[in-house]
Amino acid sequence: MDADVVVIGGGPGGYVAALRAAQLGLQTVCVEQDKTLGGTCVNVGCIPSKALLTSSEHFEFTKLHAAEHGIHPGIVTLDLPQMLRRKDEVVSQNTRGIEFLFRKNKITWAKGRGVLRANNQVDVTAADGSVTSYQAKDVIIATGSVAIELPFLKFDEDRVLSNIGALQIPRVPEHLVVIGGGVIGLELGSVWRRLGARVTVLELMPSILPEFDADIVREAEKIFKKQGMELRTGVRVTGAHRLDSTVVLNVDRNGTNEQIEGDYVLVSVGRRPILTGIDAAALGLDLGTRGEILVDEQMRTNLPHVYAIGDAVGGKLLAHKAMEEGVVAADTIAGRAAAMRYHSVPNVVYTWPEIASVGYAEHEVQASGRQFKVGRYPYSANPRARTMGESGGGFVKFIADAETDEILGAHVIGPNASELVAEIVLGVEYRATAEDIGTMIHAHPTLAEATKEAALAVHGEALHI
Ligand code: NAD
Repeated sequence: MDADVVVIGGGPGGYVAALRAAQLGLQTVCVEQDKTLGGTCVNVGCIPSKALLTSSEHFEFTKLHAAEHGIHPGIVTLDLPQMLRRKDEVVSQNTRGIEFLFRKNKITWAKGRGVLRANNQVDVTAADGSVTSYQAKDVIIATGSVAIELPFLKFDEDRVLSNIGALQIPRVPEHLVVIGGGVIGLELGSVWRRLGARVTVLELMPSILPEFDADIVREAEKIFKKQGMELRTGVRVTGAHRLDSTVVLNVDRNGTNEQIEGDYVLVSVGRRPILTGIDAAALGLDLGTRGEILVDEQMRTNLPHVYAIGDAVGGKLLAHKAMEEGVVAADTIAGRAAAMRYHSVPNVVYTWPEIASVGYAEHEVQASGRQFKVGRYPYSANPRARTMGESGGGFVKFIADAETDEILGAHVIGPNASELVAEIVLGVEYRATAEDIGTMIHAHPTLAEATKEAALAVHGEALHI
């Protein structure tokens, strides 16, 4: 069968690329082997984790803070099976939503495992073994990534969990040990801590979230520890063995060894690109040192009419980055001018408080040798945060060029940071100055006023401090 575009992979990168290609009038096929569309993000990543984060935030709020508001809900109990069922229902609303969009846009979902052959032939093997071949004018590879395993601690999704198992633990763990203090470890660690588990995070680097701005990380560590999360940084897990219903880890810290036992272990030490159905060597497809597909700004690979997007091309493994890369690839195929802008990709950690950033961290600006100014504003001084009972910590930080005042980076740790960062992304995208944000009128009282004040603080002109 002929197609204008065959997209291999139906995750956030792939399904958005398919939607955009179809919207631009291209006859589009999307190959996905799973029972549902949406890939890691929708099925076992962003969406179910956010459903559980919201549920567990409600649970903890009701237990710890409802009384401050004069609300006495009685004895608060946890119905974990219902919480997990709701999460599954949210996932299926989203996967059904993508199927609806495919039907609406007349995109063919080729159900099965796709294999890319020479000259843009894609063979799709269905569950029953039948093979359908597509001849595509252009191919977009969007095969995603998989969780990295530790060699001595293979995932069994029973006691040794990846992001997949950690979304469906059948009982609240007594002691959840998290290896890797990155995004997944902190988000899912927060979920189970709020539901009553003791949570210990073991991080190899000197701090959690090593890629984030150091000021934000210090504040996050302070807040998470206060919430009861145990954070052990600068530690190396050197071995492990499974007992009946626990896992024992050997941990090394500066040459001192100890054992840590947990009834569940979440291994969240990063993800790596996976090229299912793509034999890079046979096709002559160029890969980078981490197995990622090398692409240019229009997402072109070195093979003619073959594009690649999302986690398969490496960089920041974020759904919204993958989605935009999908749009750029489809636009380029359709002959439109498009290019990926990595500098303005926001990065969010959905803990509470949330963490969000865009642009450069202070250590990156320092390393570039550029002169810069910093402005900070705390939520303790923000009236809306006080009304919400959220003024206990967190702040907004701007880094601006000392000469031109252009925003180089901004970092937020506070309530709803994931939504607040959108304003700053706009600023970074349009090369706004700190003054531009500082002089914009923000509604009062809002959390966004802290953004304005932090921008004013770059020039020492914050008002409410
Ligand atoms: P990550 O890269 O965010 O964090 C991994 C952490 O593990 C790092 O802090 C690293 O220093 C540490 N580490 C590595 N090896 C270790 C070891 N042997 N022992 C102890 N610590 C070790 O990776 P992740 O949390 O697994 O998430 C995977 C990917 O998924 C990330 O790229 C992330 O951006 C993405 N993701 C994003 C979101 C979001 O946008 N909110 C949510 C979940 C996942």
